Amino acid sequence: MRVLANFVDGDFVDTGRYFDDINPVDGSLVARVAEADDALVDRAVNAARAAAGAWARTEMAARRRLLHAVADGVEARFDEFVAAEIADTGKDERHARTIDIVRGIANFRFFADLIMTRHGESFRSPTPDGREALSYVVHKPLGVVAVISPWNLPLLLLSWKVAPALACGNAVVAKPSEETPFTATLLAEVIQAAGLPVGVFNLLHGFGPGSAGQALVEHRGIDAITFTGSSATGSAIMRAAANDVKPLSFELGGKNAALIFADCDFDAAVEGTVRSAFSNCGQVCLCTERVYVERPIFERFVVAMKARAEALTVGRPNDPDVAMGPLISRAHREKVRNYFDLAVEEGATVVTGGTVPLFGDDRDGGAFVAPTIWTDLPDTARCNREEIFGPVCHIAPFDSEEEAVRRANDSDYGLATTIWTQNLARAHRVAPQIEAGMVWVNSWFLRDLRTPFGGVKLSGIGREGGAHSLAFYAEPSTICVKL
Ligand code: NAD
Repeated sequence: MRVLANFVDGDFVDTGRYFDDINPVDGSLVARVAEADDALVDRAVNAARAAAGAWARTEMAARRRLLHAVADGVEARFDEFVAAEIADTGKDERHARTIDIVRGIANFRFFADLIMTRHGESFRSPTPDGREALSYVVHKPLGVVAVISPWNLPLLLLSWKVAPALACGNAVVAKPSEETPFTATLLAEVIQAAGLPVGVFNLLHGFGPGSAGQALVEHRGIDAITFTGSSATGSAIMRAAANDVKPLSFELGGKNAALIFADCDFDAAVEGTVRSAFSNCGQVCLCTERVYVERPIFERFVVAMKARAEALTVGRPNDPDVAMGPLISRAHREKVRNYFDLAVEEGATVVTGGTVPLFGDDRDGGAFVAPTIWTDLPDTARCNREEIFGPVCHIAPFDSEEEAVRRANDSDYGLATTIWTQNLARAHRVAPQIEAGMVWVNSWFLRDLRTPFGGVKLSGIGREGGAHSLAFYAEPSTICVKL
């Protein structure tokens, strides 16, 4: 059986204490994972501290070359990365091939090149009392950055943070989700082979509370924390970081809305909403769980969504006909099933789904659920307020633009909202009123890596992406020279 080891100070470390990496398609064992204990967390942070100074002083062009070598290394092992991502998550192969690994590679290339474009500010100023000074700004890496990432887009979200942190000259200690340790371990192999200096990148395996995650974020030797995951974990990490007032970047949960106006391109809106509700089995932070449809097309929209959801084939990730794999784990399926029950208690009409499909083979040991659509829940229902993170959406009618905006914003979260309309004036009028970090018009999950990414309210703190990542991973320092 394969063992996935930690990567600390340039070496792979097997701690001899293991947890299981389970394939959610059938419950089979993918690998045994060596859990990092407190001593190893300490070693990793110390190794990163020791390496950080020299890495920060390494010429930018050399850092760029090494990050491109990492991207090349992942690309050279592309199929292996795809297979590992699928084994850990059960996601459909098309998704793993065209999104997860491709974007993981793109993150390294993008930040390797972007760092070369960073330019400084300078000011030559006579002060009010007539003295002259030249002030200019240098960007200094933070030191050691702790990267904590989730399981839904494992390589993509890990590299989204690791690449800019390294590009800016930081050393990194990363802890991927306990559910998805595989591609992170392959990445450590690639980084080692690419020749990054020892200690600049370290990888720890383990859980959150009482394990490597908590030990890492509480460690006095880290200088900043960048985290993608649930809002509850974000709160816990914020508390851990409070004593030392550590810089934080948080990309957290969502309860995203779609506003479907009667003047939309109907087929495109249905297609886009099916994608945004059910992609990756509903396990993308940007997925839509609240759909508001203008009343004249409400009934037609529900009928079309039902037909499209029921046409989605659920099954094995590498079957080309399959559009949806399993949820990440049986434990997560229990959570989603509890919401299935709760929705009925709260008065939902189940349009489709709400069930666990039975296959009569080894997949019954997996974590599958059916794509699910509800109507008739009040906006106050827990199923309309809490992030479920499964292939589930609720569809409700609205009567005016003002009502649509108000209901979209009536949420503790604020990550993404999608607007479907062919009325350009309406799109531009509604979009800026939406309380979310991102608003899509007539599309979903369309990303330019230069744009800021993040959420408001419970959905996060700060922005990453392009210059916004560089702004987090390196702090400006002003040097003022009296002339
Ligand atoms: P999670 O919060 O349970 O875990 C995320 C990571 O945090 C894991 O590596 C976990 O081990 C670690 N962790 C847990 N408790 C910790 C603690 N006390 N201290 C340190 N580390 C700890 O999230 P998840 O279930 O892996 O991912 C799903 C969640 O992530 C959803 O809420 C989803 O919306 C969110 N997400 C957000 C974005 C975004 O960009 N906004 C992207 C993807 C996922």
